[in-house]
Amino acid sequence: MISPEQITFDQQHIWHPYSSMINPPPMYPVESTSGVRIKLADGRELIDGMASWWSVIHGYGHPELNQAAHEQIDKMSHVMFGGLTHEPAITLCEKLVSMTPTNLDKVFLADSGSVAVEVAIKMAIQYFHAQGLPEKNKLLTIKQGYHGDTFGAMSVCDPVTGMHEIFTGLLPKHFFAPAPKTTFDSEWDSNDITPLKELLNEHHHNIAALILEPIVQGAGGMRFYSPQYLKEARTLCNEHNVLLIADEIATGFGRSGKLFACEHAEIQPDILCVGKALTGGYMTLAATLTTQHIGETISAGGAGCFMHGPTFMGNPLACAVANKSLELLQRNDWKQDVARIEQSLKLGLSEASTLEGVAEVRCLGAIGVIEMKEAVNTVKIQKLFIERGLWIRPFGKLVYVMPPYIMQDDDLNQLTTGMVDTIANYIG
Ligand SMILES: *Cc1c(COP(=O)(O)O)cnc(C)c1O
Repeated sequence: MISPEQITFDQQHIWHPYSSMINPPPMYPVESTSGVRIKLADGRELIDGMASWWSVIHGYGHPELNQAAHEQIDKMSHVMFGGLTHEPAITLCEKLVSMTPTNLDKVFLADSGSVAVEVAIKMAIQYFHAQGLPEKNKLLTIKQGYHGDTFGAMSVCDPVTGMHEIFTGLLPKHFFAPAPKTTFDSEWDSNDITPLKELLNEHHHNIAALILEPIVQGAGGMRFYSPQYLKEARTLCNEHNVLLIADEIATGFGRSGKLFACEHAEIQPDILCVGKALTGGYMTLAATLTTQHIGETISAGGAGCFMHGPTFMGNPLACAVANKSLELLQRNDWKQDVARIEQSLKLGLSEASTLEGVAEVRCLGAIGVIEMKEAVNTVKIQKLFIERGLWIRPFGKLVYVMPPYIMQDDDLNQLTTGMVDTIANYIG
């Protein structure tokens, strides 16, 4: 049990994501989690609409994931990956190579999404450096993106929502195209690609890679854009000798309705980042995959190797759980679950579009978004959601859910009805 003193200690001493030390946000102590439910210390149970930030796709406390973790920890929790290797990492990399687009067959195991993005950026830059093109060391990206909180990742996040001005002078200056305007299912507007085309025409000599979140822009705006944009971006990259980095840390493993969101556009990236759902939300693990050609080119360069190697690389415990999570994903017909959730979200959230204060309702795969006209007061609305027995954590104008794939219809129904009612009450 958490004591009131411990809560006070938390408020006075512990940073939470994007939290303040002088105005600490309210914290809800969690006692345990099970299935799609979070049990608070005061006994209340919440239906989890967030899947702990996209990651808990099979639900909490899955018996097979628990068992995989127990079995692995009894054998070996961790061992360094330099000079040593092990079955859990090898099995995981075999699985990743076979599940991801066919051109990707070299795997770097990273310890978080942000690190996977750093690794992707370094790969792209080292790739051109190795070919005597060190001036190709800038990145191109699209606005409203989110790629993580470390410096390299931050430098390609949306300049406004990523608060670039605080870090002026420290963040490398990259090239930003406007976010795609054509939405996922609207008719393609060929002008949409023009700014990206112009940036590439003018600056390709200095650009190593285009990095973007395919189809679904997550934390930077929860936007779903046209597959045609991604198709044309792929073609432009080929024409200009620029690599394409797909950041599928949020979209990977079925969330958007395809196993990887790149499949909506039938394209293959040169470098792919995965994370979040990789271990089914059990622990931190991510990966960056690339092609044989890029892997070999980097290795033939002056450095003779790829310049990265974290302490906890290939953590066996995380790999063992990831292996089980990917096995469950393949065994459990994720596609049908995601399609079922998409239908439920579309139906359940559609009513919100008539509410005063709601700008737009949109759903894709197991992602449902209610975009408000004004930014919501997160503390206030979160409290209302909790009173409804829901765990939903909005940011800015976005009230959104991405439930665990195992969520059944009655819980989905409670989630969507509760969302719409709560927003109606909140607007008042
Ligand atoms: C969450 C996220 C990241 C960062 O991952 P962390 O594990 O939080 O470092 C990067 N890119 C995308 C698209 C994400 O959604």
